[in-house]
Amino acid sequence: MDLDTPIGQIPRVTPQYQKRLERMGIETVRDILFHFPHRYDDFSRIVPISQADVGGPFCLEGRILEIKNLRTPRKKMVITQALMADNSGKIRAVWFNQPYLIKTFKKGDYVCLAGKITKKGGSKYLSNPAYERIPPFVFQNMAGPKKGLTHTGRLVPVYPETEGLSSKWLRFIIKPLLQKLRNKIADPLPDKLREENGLIPLAKALWQIHFPDSLKAAGEARKRFSFEELFLISLFVLRERMRLMKEKARAVPINIRAVKNFIGRLPFKLTDDQKKAAWQILKDMERERPMNRLLEGDVGSGKTIVTMIACLNAARAGRQAVFMAPTEILAKQHFQTFSQFLKGYRLGIGLMTGRESRFKNRKVSRRELLEKVRKGRVDILIGTQALIQNKERKRGRTAISFKNLSLVVIDEQHRFGVEQRATLSQQGDLIPHLLSMTATPIPRTLALTIYGDLDISLIREMPKGRKKIITRIVPPRKRNEAYDFIRKEIRKGRQAFVICPRIEPSAISASAGEEAEEDFKQLRWAEVKAVKEEYDKLSKDIFPDLRVGQLHGKMKSGEKEEIMKGFAKGEIDLLVSTSVVEVGIDVPNATVMMIEGAEKFGLAQLHQFRGRVGRAKFQSYCFLFTEIYSRTVVARLRAMVSSQNGFELAEKDLQIRGPGDFEGRRQWGVPDLAMASLKDISLVEKTREAAKKILEEDRELKKHPQLRERLKAFGQRIHLE
Ligand code: ADP
Ligand code: MG
Repeated sequence: MDLDTPIGQIPRVTPQYQKRLERMGIETVRDILFHFPHRYDDFSRIVPISQADVGGPFCLEGRILEIKNLRTPRKKMVITQALMADNSGKIRAVWFNQPYLIKTFKKGDYVCLAGKITKKGGSKYLSNPAYERIPPFVFQNMAGPKKGLTHTGRLVPVYPETEGLSSKWLRFIIKPLLQKLRNKIADPLPDKLREENGLIPLAKALWQIHFPDSLKAAGEARKRFSFEELFLISLFVLRERMRLMKEKARAVPINIRAVKNFIGRLPFKLTDDQKKAAWQILKDMERERPMNRLLEGDVGSGKTIVTMIACLNAARAGRQAVFMAPTEILAKQHFQTFSQFLKGYRLGIGLMTGRESRFKNRKVSRRELLEKVRKGRVDILIGTQALIQNKERKRGRTAISFKNLSLVVIDEQHRFGVEQRATLSQQGDLIPHLLSMTATPIPRTLALTIYGDLDISLIREMPKGRKKIITRIVPPRKRNEAYDFIRKEIRKGRQAFVICPRIEPSAISASAGEEAEEDFKQLRWAEVKAVKEEYDKLSKDIFPDLRVGQLHGKMKSGEKEEIMKGFAKGEIDLLVSTSVVEVGIDVPNATVMMIEGAEKFGLAQLHQFRGRVGRAKFQSYCFLFTEIYSRTVVARLRAMVSSQNGFELAEKDLQIRGPGDFEGRRQWGVPDLAMASLKDISLVEKTREAAKKILEEDRELKKHPQLRERLKAFGQRIHLE
């Protein structure tokens, strides 16, 4: 067995557990060993029972004298009560709703119990302690820390909470793996690099991050992994860049007249930031060096029009552009926007999603469109990722090829798109210019590290005349007031969104049985059901006088399109939807965004939802409905009320959740530990320097085979994300 052994081959991992692990992206022994705890329970204080005072946590070692289940008369809760003793005294332990424990322990067993000590009615007891059985031989012959305890008697790792995978189970799997592989784990970081940067070796770091001797040791381990992660990112990115520097792109001349003409005919004035960004992009494309630019601007700042200028300019120069959107709905919206704004330019604009193809507002077959792309009749092709996916090829579809592709635009992506460009380039030594757009506020240092030496255009100012979106937290008793308000807005001619709460897997999987697959299916159905119910309620009971529509992921693509069109045209007043409208949807007449179960969404998502309104001169509103008032929920929703700025919200999110929060990281789209090190600019710089140094000496990493392997795996992971 080694690090690459599939997780399913580990004796104690049943197929059912394997599925759960795979759902989290854990497929090999390496993956599980690199699944790190986000905190530790300190059960390292082992004391005689007589010295265990109220408080703690303490760890007590002794024998079970008796154990039994009791039922509380009123609350119908099962309480398991045990009495344990050591040489110094006796103490009770109490567990709630874990009746199976009486099968786990028998009278006379040696155990270690760890937890807080409470006092009630004059007697002290251990409340819901963690527990571990100890074989009699070990118990009698070893001193506390030497007993090799896993769940008690030490700093105990606690892993990010995941449905069906307890921390206890993970410890149970991870510890024996670490013991077995201890001497077989080769360190990808060269010794010299480690020494220069004060980093501990991999095998030790793995052990200490899971089962640390002290918090300091855990910190050392974490430091090493943060360094490693940032270092790998830097290496990866620098190497891509070195490769890219050898490549050439075709220079696209700037057609000043066409650009000025287009800008002059827009129904609004571009902001200075928009003009500057457009100019930077055009200037980049004028060179033979391939453009690598990230266009960063908060939700609603008007990024689309900027890229449209670049596409138009390319088309005027007789070159093709491709624009990729993250979802089908967005691709269609962009197709419409482009067709509308570029009317009168006689351009061939095409749309290609996984399901349909269009050319100049006419439905065509995919083959026909591909043919037009190949012949250069399509100047601007808009589509989803389906444009380039390999599986398309497997289905026997013709891979896409262009006559003279010069610009690739990627909308709303966290990843920069180097890979997408590579897939689309098929013209010998020339590669297209690349422009990526994101509303994700990525700090510059991090952007440089993740995306390499790219150029960034920032749109800071919002278009003129936008009003601040008034955001309110709405408690249940104010619900009707909010409905009345919506009606008033709609009577004025405006429109509104109602977002149904996200359904969390945990909410259903308790009843969904064991199969992970099933859970996911049910999850989607649960969301559809939520939309349908909300739709029924709103259309029949609350707003029978209004035109209410619904939108969810299970609808057919044509249906979705009809609904979105109807909403965009103002034929639907109120749109009830799942989070499918989260990113990019642009209906300037909508002024109310109402979010049910707001606490179920992250700040980034809420900010994106809110960005669907306030897109024109009308005063807009965002209502956050919640029935939950925990400290973090309130803190997060208040942050939404007080801030409209994506950068600021990202900062606050990080403070409230802490960098260890899995969801938080996911949402802002930055790799795990790198996120935790986000604020550590000096570490970022150090890793960049180290990466540069190694690559300058040894470009292909020939002297560092371990590192080369690791980098290869890392690159694959990055590309898959
Ligand atoms: P995002 O940056 O979130 O992608 P969009 O490009 O969708 O934003 O633009 C949001 C809305 O603002 C669109 O309706 C667009 O037509 C409009 N818009 C863009 N630039 C301006 C401007 N300078 N003045 C007024 N409205 C603008
Ligand atoms: Mg957009």
